[in-house]
Amino acid sequence: MKITDVNAYVVVPDYGLGESVTHGWQWTFVTIDTDEGLQGWGEASNVPRNGSLLTGNGIRAVREALVGEDPRTIEKLWHKLFRRYTYLGSRGFTSAVISGIDIALWDLLGKALGCPVYDLLGGPVRDSVPVYANAWFAGCRQPDEFAAAATATVAEGHDAIKFDPFLEMEPFHTAYLDGQISAAGEEAGCNAVAAVRNAVGPGVEILIDAHGHYNVPTAVRLGNRLYDESQIRWFEEPLPPESFVALRNVREQIRAPICVGERLFTRYEFVPVLEQRLADYLMPDVVWTGGISELKKIATLAESYYVPISPHNAQGPGQILAGAHVSMTVPNLYRLEHAISCKNAYDSFLQTPLAWCGNTLELGDRPGLGVDLDMAAIHASLDPQWQIQQTL
Ligand code: MG
Repeated sequence: MKITDVNAYVVVPDYGLGESVTHGWQWTFVTIDTDEGLQGWGEASNVPRNGSLLTGNGIRAVREALVGEDPRTIEKLWHKLFRRYTYLGSRGFTSAVISGIDIALWDLLGKALGCPVYDLLGGPVRDSVPVYANAWFAGCRQPDEFAAAATATVAEGHDAIKFDPFLEMEPFHTAYLDGQISAAGEEAGCNAVAAVRNAVGPGVEILIDAHGHYNVPTAVRLGNRLYDESQIRWFEEPLPPESFVALRNVREQIRAPICVGERLFTRYEFVPVLEQRLADYLMPDVVWTGGISELKKIATLAESYYVPISPHNAQGPGQILAGAHVSMTVPNLYRLEHAISCKNAYDSFLQTPLAWCGNTLELGDRPGLGVDLDMAAIHASLDPQWQIQQTL
């Protein structure tokens, strides 16, 4: 079997959060065609600020390295792409491009062999994938609003919920400067978490995403307060991702469990986190860190340290499916993330809807990823900037 074509499609999904929130947030889908008529698909989405246009163009750039290759040689092709841009930097942009290709190759292999991707990864260790809920708090500003939204989410069957309660820091989400929060902002955020804990009771796991907003003393103070007041399950990305020394500094002073990993790329960047015992949970992102191949390897690395993984999801349905197939096969799984406000958007690009069931996702036994793209829906939702770039 030979690869005959590689294509990228950058679409504008309806996140259900409003245009002002999601401007410049697109999803990048990838298709790989073969001389035997099979097509595999993957995802290489990246946000914010037109990150998906960048990865879409990256997919276009690697097309000539793939056409003519045997798509079943996934490991070989992963390494070919990984080493190809060593002078650009093999992690980050390059690993995001690899992710989209890798996921499509696994989908293709499953279709060629007539079995689901999870069977190719060693087979399932569980019947369905446990999930946790993000994006249930859109529009909440006051503690009672967070509490009501959390209560409604739990009523849908969820027993683990994640949010970032520190609204003052939203403008700094990709604009870190001094890593500090005002006393009023700290109080408001901690009060929101306390209101949620009071509303949902002790049986629901509350995960707090710090989005890498803080410096060391601020992260330590917030994490300890949230743990002591509201018994949070994890404090995610307390610091920007660049310094493991700083993370160790937080680790040595904080009582809350730490989760990191959505901005760590490939197994190589997870090794020091495991070796130096810097986190309790790892959250690799399957469309950023290197695809299904890399997520499985990171999970196995973590397994040998008895550290659970919890694949990160903030993009589209390919990310959900790819992460779910790996999650089916990983003993050391905590939960797979998903955004409950994106469920309609996920399904809008698929031929059949994802099978959510309360706090789990069911995968079924169809070959490959198990669900194919709705190409008509994709062509109807192409990003106008992407369409212009295709003509250049
Ligand atoms: Mg996060």
